[in-house]
Amino acid sequence: MPPVVRFAPSPTGRIHIGNVRTALINFLFVTKDRGRFILRFDDTDVARSKQEYAEAIEEDLKWLGIAPDLIVHQSKRFPLYDAAAAKLRGVGRLYPCYETAEELERRRKRQQARGLPPIYDRAALTLTEADRAALEAAGRRPHWRFLLDHVVVHWDDLVRGASHIDCASLSDPVLVREDGTYLYTLPSVVDDLDLEISHIIRGEDHVTNTAVQIQLFEALGGANAAPVFGHHNLLTTASGEGLSKRSGALSIGTLREEGIEPLAVAACAVLTGTSDSVHPVQSLDELAADFDFSHVSRNQARFDPAELKTLSARTLHQMSFAAAAGRLALAGISGPNAEAFWFAVRGNLETFGDVAIWWAVVEGTIAPAIEDADFIAAARALLPAEPWNQTTWAEWTNLLKTQTNRKGRALYHPLRLALTGREQGPELAALLPLIGRAKAEARLSGRAA
Ligand code: GLU
Repeated sequence: MPPVVRFAPSPTGRIHIGNVRTALINFLFVTKDRGRFILRFDDTDVARSKQEYAEAIEEDLKWLGIAPDLIVHQSKRFPLYDAAAAKLRGVGRLYPCYETAEELERRRKRQQARGLPPIYDRAALTLTEADRAALEAAGRRPHWRFLLDHVVVHWDDLVRGASHIDCASLSDPVLVREDGTYLYTLPSVVDDLDLEISHIIRGEDHVTNTAVQIQLFEALGGANAAPVFGHHNLLTTASGEGLSKRSGALSIGTLREEGIEPLAVAACAVLTGTSDSVHPVQSLDELAADFDFSHVSRNQARFDPAELKTLSARTLHQMSFAAAAGRLALAGISGPNAEAFWFAVRGNLETFGDVAIWWAVVEGTIAPAIEDADFIAAARALLPAEPWNQTTWAEWTNLLKTQTNRKGRALYHPLRLALTGREQGPELAALLPLIGRAKAEARLSGRAA
C-alpha cells in the first residue's frame, strides 16, 4: 500500500522554516513511493484560527512545490469527534472530572512537596453518581479525561529508533474541555484513523504525545491501529531559540518577499540538522532521492539565514533554462535570445529579480558611461563585423591588446563600463553577442542606447 501522510498546521499564523521542514519531510517521503499527502488544518480553536492564515499556508506550500492530494479542516469534522468521544465514554475510557485549575495546582504542589510525581490522582473516578449530580447542580461542568492503561507503550520511531514511554508516569490527558471543545489529541487521532494515515511524521516536540495517541488509536480502532511514527529534530534560530509562528521573521512569506528561491528554502529546511551537506538542488525529486531518515540528527539544529541566502544564489547559478523559462517569460524575457541570456547571467544572480537589470543591459537603453574616450574610440573602430558569437569578445580584445598595449583591468574595465553601464557583471563574452553590434557601437560612441 502506498503511504499516506499528513501535515497538520494550526492556521494561527504564517508557517516558518521549521514548519516547512515537517511539511517537506512528509512530502518527500511520499514522493518516493507515490503515496498521498494530506493537508489538515488543525483549526478546532476557532478563536485563534483564521481563514486568511489557512489560505496563506496553502499558498506557501504551493510556492514550495507541494500540492496536497486532499485538504481537510478539523472545524468541519466535529460530528466525527463527538462520535469518538461517545465511543470512549461507552467503554469507560473517558471520564468526567470536576476539579478547577486551582484545585489541580494545589494538589500538584502537595505531591511535589512529598516528592511524588505531579500526575493526576484520578480522584474523579471515585465520584458517585450522586456526587456528580451535586457538583453539576452547584454549576460545575466536567472536563473529560482519557483513562490510560498503565503500561509501557513501545514504538519503532523512523528517526529515533526503538522508543517507549511508561504511561504510568503520565496524567490521564484531558480530551474535552469544560465548554465541550476538544483539545488537539482526540481530533488528531480520529482524523488519522479516518483518513487512513499510514505514517505520522512530525517534530520531536510531539514525542511526549505519542504513547497517549497510540493508546487512543487502539481504543478507537483496535489493536495495531496506530500508524508508524517518526519524530524529526527541530530547527532553532541562529542564536538557538525555538522558532515561533508569532515572530514572523523566518516565515515563508518573508523569505519569499526577500527573493529567496523556493528550492533553497526546501534544501535548507530538509538538510539542516542531517549528516548531509546543505547543498543546492534542482528539484524536489532530487531532494527526495537524497533524503534519508537515518541521516537526521537527534540534536536540535541551528538555522542560519545567511546560509540560506548563499544557497539561494547557488540554486540560481545552476538552474536549467527549462526551470527558469516560465519565470523569465513572466518578467518579460522571452524570444530567441532568452536561453543564451539565461546562461549568460544566471551565475551573477543573487535573486531571480536581478534578471531585469541584465535584460535592460541586453535589450534596453542605458545611459552613456565613457571612462577613457581615446581608448574607447579605438575600440569602436576595431569592432568586428557581424555575425557575432561567443568568440567575438576574445577576437576583439586580442586585437585591441596588440594595438593599444593595454592589458588586464586597463583593457577590460572601460569596455565593460561603456557596454553595460556597470562596474561588474556577467562574462562579456556571453553578453556581447546578445547586446549586438548596433547597440555596442552606439554605446561606445557615448550615446544612450
Ligand atoms: N497541529 C499540530 C501541530 O501543529 C499537529 C501535530 C501532529 O502532527 O500530530 O503541532
